[in-house]
Amino acid sequence: MSQDITLDVVREWDTKDILRGFRDHFVIPDGMIYLDGNSLGPAPKKALLALERAAHSEWGHDLIRSWNSAGWFNLPLKLGDKIGALIGAAEGQIAVCDSTSINIFKALSAAAKMRPDRKTIVAEGASFPTDLYIAEGFAASQPHLTLKLQGVDADRIEDLLSPDVGVVLLNHVNYRSGYLHDMKTMTARIQAAGALVIWDLCHSAGALDVELDACNADFAVGCTYKYINGGPGAPAFIYVAKRHQLQARQPLSGWWGHARPFAFEQQYEAAPAIARFLCGTQPILSMQSLNGALEVWQGVNMKDLRTKSLALTDLFIKLVEKRCNGYDLQLITSRNHSERGSQVGFTHPHAYEIMQALIAEQVIGDFRAPDVLRFGFTPLYLGFEDVWNAVEVLHNILITKRWQNPRFTAKNTVT
Ligand SMILES: *Cc1c(COP(=O)(O)O)cnc(C)c1O
Repeated sequence: MSQDITLDVVREWDTKDILRGFRDHFVIPDGMIYLDGNSLGPAPKKALLALERAAHSEWGHDLIRSWNSAGWFNLPLKLGDKIGALIGAAEGQIAVCDSTSINIFKALSAAAKMRPDRKTIVAEGASFPTDLYIAEGFAASQPHLTLKLQGVDADRIEDLLSPDVGVVLLNHVNYRSGYLHDMKTMTARIQAAGALVIWDLCHSAGALDVELDACNADFAVGCTYKYINGGPGAPAFIYVAKRHQLQARQPLSGWWGHARPFAFEQQYEAAPAIARFLCGTQPILSMQSLNGALEVWQGVNMKDLRTKSLALTDLFIKLVEKRCNGYDLQLITSRNHSERGSQVGFTHPHAYEIMQALIAEQVIGDFRAPDVLRFGFTPLYLGFEDVWNAVEVLHNILITKRWQNPRFTAKNTVT
């Protein structure tokens, strides 16, 4: 990007953008620049259609028959395979079910049991909090286990990899800074130390080209309501590498994970496959919404997605630093492509108020405590001109100090 960037230049990039047509698949309110698809993806039109069909025809008309006729019962594994295609996992290794929090619990339990002589679990102190809370809760339920944190007990993950470590839980992309781990290298290091790795893909699934199988990952979890656009509260997913599936046991041994759920046997026998990671009845309306959302992904090449994502975040960083120079914004996201997810964060002492002012002007990002303005970049529906316009609004809010209006200081429950 040596050329001087002007509005004409970014418009030109939009006309050459091979992913541009995907924007028509989404409902984006007029005038809105949506930079929060890393928190809740917008509605794909196909998801709304699938929801309507699931509600009116499958539930409203066909009722109980839909478990077979609409394939409801098979949705967790069918959707799991579709997600697998986005994150480099061959079929039969992913189940869509429950929430990410619950799936972290299941993965931690299964992995810890596969390393019975090792008494330490490692996670990142800067993880998304639920990862830490679940790890803490799990460790507390197993008196022989201790949780150690990178950033608290040692500076680097590598320094914590003693022979006592059985499981390492990592966030592929950090939710606040956007820092991206090198999955292949980290997986190899952790496995060389004899431990198993669980990758949390909440901020990378649907955001970049994840390669679970090629990286030899052990376990992974992630949500579908962020970059995958499955809808608010859409179920999460769990990946268990084929080579582990017969040894891996999780404690929420509900009937959907049974080898023969409809035999209604008295004793539990885990399904000899990824289905053993299911627990019980799933939210079918949300599953069908996700099913519709996944249709949009069928034509997406993840390498193209990644190329555009980096071009969008490069442009945003460059324009903010040029247009908003001198206003106390500090970049916390790596400039290095190999260390950057699909989001950009800046700190500012008045980040909360500035974000509220941006939202009031239809530039939707979010605030992350204590002082981060966070912007997510989603290549399927954002263009380069959107990035240009968002920076112009930010610039205007900063020079006019409109964020100082008292209505922007009241804290909402959800930030
Ligand atoms: C969004 C997110 C979650 C969400 O967990 P839920 O159980 O869906 O509430 C978990 N971990 C990470 C890293 C996230 O970004």
